[in-house]
Amino acid sequence: MYPARFEYFAPTTLDEALEIIGRYDEGEAKVLAGGMSLIPVMKLRFAAPRALVDINRIGGLDTLAEEGGMLRIGALVRHKTCEQSDLLKGKYGALGDAAPQIADPIVRNLGTVAGSLAHADPQGDWASVMLAVRAEVVARGNGGERTIPIDELLAGPFTTTLEANEILTEVRVPDPGARAGGTYLKLERKVGDFATVGVAVHVSMSNGSVGQAGIALTGVGPKNIRAEAAEQALAGHALDDETIAEAARLAAEAAQPRTDVRGTEEYKRNAVRVFTARGLRRAAEVVG
Ligand SMILES: Cc1cc2nc3c(=O)[nH]c(=O)nc-3n(C[C@H](O)[C@H](O)[C@H](O)COP(=O)(O)OP(=O)(O)OC[C@H]3O[C@@H](n4cnc5c(N)ncnc54)[C@H](O)[C@@H]3O)c2cc1C
Repeated sequence: MYPARFEYFAPTTLDEALEIIGRYDEGEAKVLAGGMSLIPVMKLRFAAPRALVDINRIGGLDTLAEEGGMLRIGALVRHKTCEQSDLLKGKYGALGDAAPQIADPIVRNLGTVAGSLAHADPQGDWASVMLAVRAEVVARGNGGERTIPIDELLAGPFTTTLEANEILTEVRVPDPGARAGGTYLKLERKVGDFATVGVAVHVSMSNGSVGQAGIALTGVGPKNIRAEAAEQALAGHALDDETIAEAARLAAEAAQPRTDVRGTEEYKRNAVRVFTARGLRRAAEVVG
């Protein structure tokens, strides 16, 4: 199906983009980044924005760099750039491991990390990774700029706390320190599919025990879920078999899976348990 009729704008500055969005009633103008989610929903006529504001010609939004004690991921950083980046290894390994598991190479060429977060698909992989590493996003509106912790950004299925007239300009991941690491494990029916279950794991060590832990789940709830009790069970402990098994049990308990074509509730819950344990063992290897 063809999308409904819309106006198209390709501004070259953020101010211009915000000015164009401001001309329309709330929600009538949509930001276009990679278009990998927006265009399909427009073609299905689930969305019919009156205007698309293409941000791809705006300079300075493609930064992927470690600066000022954080990793900065600009709004136009593509999944593919993350897949190929040497920066997203070791302490940022959860990001590097997730990138090649997003969709397929064609989607990864264009789709953006920020676009995934703004789209808030509960089966999106990046949101779990960002929960695990405790990222925040920077949103720019006509009133200025604000930062939103990732837990506060994700409001529900396909819903965020971004205002309709705000543009997400950057994702920021705090530097977890040298002895940190994690991974993202995804169960998919075939390459390119959305997750049946995904688990993001991230730990930073302090004096031989876990200082801070991040565990988040994909595809097993109305939005990406932080497995808070599992995180707490790790803090202050060594990453030994017993601690890992308990955290994995608690992560499975936090999941809210539903039986569907991808598997039964029980199967998905068990996959969360197995993947959490596997992810934590991998993280233990990374942090030594
Ligand atoms: C075949 C296929 C398979 C896929 N498989 C997966 C998968 O396995 N895992 C996964 O995580 N994702 C998957 N996706 C989704 C893909 O990762 C998208 O790239 C991503 O969800 C959206 O990024 P985008 O840059 O393409 O955003 P767009 O499609 O351009 O935009 C998506 C939404 O976010 C808004 N938006 C985008 N950027 C901004 C911004 N900077 N500020 C404010 N709002 C913004 C748009 O207005 C729109 O509402 C798949 C997509 C396809 C087509």
